[in-house]
Amino acid sequence: MAKMIFADLTLCTACRGCQVACKQWKKLPAEKTHNWGSYQNPPDLSHDTIRLVRFTEAVVNDKLEWLFFPEQCRHCYSAPCKRFADKFDAKAITHDEESGAVVFTDRIAKIPAQGLRDACPYDIPRSNKAGVSTKCDFCIDRIQGGMVPSCVLSCPTQCLVFGEEDEIQELAAKRLKEVRKQYPEAYLGDPLNVRVLYLFQTDHRLYYQR
Ligand code: SF4
Ligand code: SF4
Ligand code: SF4
Repeated sequence: MAKMIFADLTLCTACRGCQVACKQWKKLPAEKTHNWGSYQNPPDLSHDTIRLVRFTEAVVNDKLEWLFFPEQCRHCYSAPCKRFADKFDAKAITHDEESGAVVFTDRIAKIPAQGLRDACPYDIPRSNKAGVSTKCDFCIDRIQGGMVPSCVLSCPTQCLVFGEEDEIQELAAKRLKEVRKQYPEAYLGDPLNVRVLYLFQTDHRLYYQR
């Protein structure tokens, strides 16, 4: 059975351990940043930052809340990015049945970057100056070696949990029931379509608007 990551956002402290762990494992360089009025840094996903912890202040039920959103590719069951890329080259994006990972291969360089980004309902792919797209690959190399994704391993709060699809679906349903006692509007984001399943305490549009 394929795998899933559960991200219970009510447990995220925005420590950014996952963001750094992702860079370390993928050997991605740091980006030059500046104070742009938010702890969120860098300001957006990029070719060098394929996992980003987003910070947003929002008024929820007349109360100011700080919402944290560790964002990555959702590894869609039927990936729109792959459907787009397949029109050009069916080997540019692979969908690994065992893990469920949607992976950009070296042949992604030939796929139009903006079209690929536009095809993603979550606005995930980013490209470099040469127009080569990239994104999270679910740490497929670690999964195939019996390890958990680097971001999950680094998470100190159990916000991120990795496991078999049925176990994660069960955990998510259990946590949703518990979380709704405190946050009645909580829900799971797109649970039938994604392998990275977020539990939002409130409307997901308050976490990040594109
Ligand atoms: S989230 Fe976007 S980039 Fe990731 S698999 Fe789905 S469509 Fe592709
Ligand atoms: S699964 Fe791996 S590549 Fe994807 S965000 Fe986590 S650490 Fe980065
Ligand atoms: S490591 Fe866990 S708690 Fe820290 S920012 Fe990432 S998801 Fe949130």
